[in-house]
Amino acid sequence: AKSLGKGCFVVFSPEMHAQTLSLLKLERDLRSAVDRQEFVLYYQPIIDLQSGDLTDVEVLVRWQHPDRGLVMPSEFIPLAEETGLIVEIGQWVLQEACQTLRDYQQQFASATELKFSVNLSSEQLQDPNFIQTVDRVLSQSGLDGRYLKLELTESMLMSHEEKHIKTLQQLRDRSITISLDDFGTGYSSLSYLYRFPLDTLKIDQSFVSRMISEPKDAEIVNTIISLARTLNMDVIAEGIETEEEVLHLKKLGCERGQGYWFSPPMSQEKLEEHLQAGPQW
Ligand code: C2E
Ligand code: CA
Ligand code: CA
Ligand code: CA
Repeated sequence: AKSLGKGCFVVFSPEMHAQTLSLLKLERDLRSAVDRQEFVLYYQPIIDLQSGDLTDVEVLVRWQHPDRGLVMPSEFIPLAEETGLIVEIGQWVLQEACQTLRDYQQQFASATELKFSVNLSSEQLQDPNFIQTVDRVLSQSGLDGRYLKLELTESMLMSHEEKHIKTLQQLRDRSITISLDDFGTGYSSLSYLYRFPLDTLKIDQSFVSRMISEPKDAEIVNTIISLARTLNMDVIAEGIETEEEVLHLKKLGCERGQGYWFSPPMSQEKLEEHLQAGPQW
């Protein structure tokens, strides 16, 4: 029964019942997707705005569903997080990403200094076996940790601060670098930035997309870039869609960026064509 407040209840409506059923089906499908490894990785280039070189690649997961086709992360990551399946999915993503990059290092001259940047969920960071998983993945793939970046959000760091500082330090001991994703959308005070070993701030795409039309957003972007400089971190602008945005970001001293202007996330085949052609994007 669903509460309507004031002690008033109704039973599930047929629509709600259908919703629940489809959610249950989605959960069952997701479990079997983990067993059958129905996930694929897409790759979005991160570009040095001055030189135009490809420096990093963000790894983004998709679900290759047998009936529904390619399912985007917004449609299954929340459920994967709720059910804890994200831990297994995340392990697969990490393993696949590290193995792919290691293969590319041997295959393409343009990939020798390339980094792969992998998104993490809070459940993964809190998993007591997380560092053990990272060590296993690095040793199985043969990838040096300095080519791996991990993307976290501010909200993931807000609880269990001491524990997270220790985990991030353990990652740093393995030369793995850390990006703070969607930066500017969280609620945390800025002082916590000093306390965590972080390497990169990723300016959330909402600020970048409004930057040209809204002076307030341009000011936020400017402030984040200065903040990164003060903290000795580097900065990546997300969601760049126009040349005007590129020029504006360069003027503000933003080093790197990603977005549809350069490329949407692409398949492995497409990335390989680019790597074959060289480091210039
Ligand atoms: P995110 O980490 O903030 O990733 C950026 C998202 O913005 C991606 O959506 C990307 O396709 C999209 N994007 C890139 N450039 C542009 C642009 O110029 N304009 C616009 N409008 N969008 C752009 P995607 O691939 O659908 O991923 C959505 C979110 O799902 C990601 O947001 C991330 O939070 C999550 N996610 C993706 N892969 C993974 C994963 O392997 N593990 C975990 N835990 N989360 C993941
Ligand atoms: Ca990200
Ligand atoms: Ca982001
Ligand atoms: Ca996000």
